[in-house]
Amino acid sequence: MSTITRNGMDYDLVMIMAAEELNVKEKIQWCPGCGNFSLLTALKGAISELGLKRHETVIVSGIGCSGKTPHYVNTYGFEGLHGRPLPVASAIKLANTSLTVIAEGGDGDGYGIGVQHFVHIMRRNYDLTYIVHDNQIYGLTTGQASPTSLLGMKTKTTPWGVIETPFNPIAYAILGGATYVARGFAGDAAHLKELIKGAIAHKGFALVDVFQPCVTFNKMNTYQWFQQRVYKLEDTGHKTQDKEAAMEKALEDSKSDHKKVPIGLFYKEERPTYEDQLPQIKDNPLVKHDLKKINVSEAYDALE
Ligand code: SF4
Ligand code: MG
Repeated sequence: MSTITRNGMDYDLVMIMAAEELNVKEKIQWCPGCGNFSLLTALKGAISELGLKRHETVIVSGIGCSGKTPHYVNTYGFEGLHGRPLPVASAIKLANTSLTVIAEGGDGDGYGIGVQHFVHIMRRNYDLTYIVHDNQIYGLTTGQASPTSLLGMKTKTTPWGVIETPFNPIAYAILGGATYVARGFAGDAAHLKELIKGAIAHKGFALVDVFQPCVTFNKMNTYQWFQQRVYKLEDTGHKTQDKEAAMEKALEDSKSDHKKVPIGLFYKEERPTYEDQLPQIKDNPLVKHDLKKINVSEAYDALE
């Protein structure tokens, strides 16, 4: 298959041509060199290669640099409140189960202010994809420590270095009930695209946490920092159905003092989704219910 090289990275020519249909006219506002660019390329490549239709795809975001993503992909989109992409995404899915719903957020958005949604939505196993632009800092607000900032990292809010233990989203997701748990690196868009494709194709709640270098405010976790540390789980014979092995890999990053940082698919299981078990909608999506047949007068009478 033909490839072209842009900014030192090889891209599949077929993917570029198909993904162009997802481009928008607006100028992208991210800083030059931001990891969000290759994440966006991977996302558009995944959507086009899976053959998803624009009118049946919804991208939902919270607040932060990641929050701009729905504006930059030519599908349906919704930019919501800080930390709230998952409640909005799950409501859209419940209303119309035939849609492909992708939630986008940042580490501050999803693992800080929105962490309660993350924890409980995983238990329910909605058929959603959640992509977290994990740059280990609050980028949009110009560089404060986030839940995933590493120990010792100096930021505007931690001038003597972070002293809180970093949040481990992969471990939480494996224990919390997510049925597809992966981590990608924005410095490897082709690999990331495959993880996103797997997440969207998976029926159930899928987390793709993405190391997404913030070149402007995170001077610690740079592209070079990750390139020296990341390795792919699929190169090691890792068994993705083995929960204990997945947890061991989820903890390797911190246990090795960030010398060995696995990326790839950690864990995958099949479990019924929330919407497929909900009697009211399991056979007929909410948007297809005939409202004319619904009589609420009995409910009103009961209130009298
Ligand atoms: Fe990217 Fe950081 Fe700039 Fe935000 S502040 S666009 S995360 S480089
Ligand atoms: Mg962030």
